[in-house]
Amino acid sequence: MKKLFSIIAMLFLSSCLFAANVINMKLGKFDVTAIKIQSMDHKKDLFRYKDSKKLEEILNQKDSTASAINVFYVDTGDHKILFDTGINAQILLDVLKSIKVEPKNIDTICITHMHFDHIAGLIQDYNRVFPKADIYIAQEEVDANKTSEILLAYPNRIKQFKQNEQIFPFIKTIPAFGHTLGHTMFEVTSDGQTMLVWGDILHAPIQFQDPNIYLIYDTDPIQALSVRKKVMKEYADTDTYIAGAHLLNCGIGKLKKDKTGYKFDFLQK
Ligand SMILES: [Zn+2]
Repeated sequence: MKKLFSIIAMLFLSSCLFAANVINMKLGKFDVTAIKIQSMDHKKDLFRYKDSKKLEEILNQKDSTASAINVFYVDTGDHKILFDTGINAQILLDVLKSIKVEPKNIDTICITHMHFDHIAGLIQDYNRVFPKADIYIAQEEVDANKTSEILLAYPNRIKQFKQNEQIFPFIKTIPAFGHTLGHTMFEVTSDGQTMLVWGDILHAPIQFQDPNIYLIYDTDPIQALSVRKKVMKEYADTDTYIAGAHLLNCGIGKLKKDKTGYKFDFLQK
């Protein structure tokens, strides 16, 4: 398992361009930092759609497969919280250092799901990176990944949560199963402002045009697709900030409806 984890990470990294970047914003009283761990491109043959000819056309558009890996850091004043950890601990540590956050001061880490591009930042040489953090993971994800070295590296630190649970007064878990068996979104609220950390609801910009397009990474594509459509419909044209693990430009902004599908208004620096 350890070896497999390393090989997958290496293969994945080989298609990635390294360039960490951050965007800061206020969410009520909280300070939020959206962190791009790296840019990447999805291979075209990972995409699926009911109409393969149309899919080819869409994939031939400029930057159709452009993607990224983002994590989100929230300082509430009382808690220092990470949402997902990206694919490489050293890159994450370097970015945290650049924003003057010490790993030992992170007390909470919320994991949307246990794919390696979201949890690999938790360990370095199979040792834990965040010595004092509690790791919040959905019960369904833990059950499906019982042999993960992440669980071994954080004994007594894994906090399994149920869905629709307030894990803090200001963080609610929302089920978004389909991408994985326990894929979870986190709704973060402060002073009437809300941010939805939506994990892997969407992987590439072309899915804004048509949410029916999916990637083979989805464990249950039909369920993932219907969840994506439901979530996008629910949050489009609202005041909720969306924080996406694979959106471009550090992955934070607001979702808008447009003529044929959706568009994303990214928060700019
Ligand atoms: Zn992912």
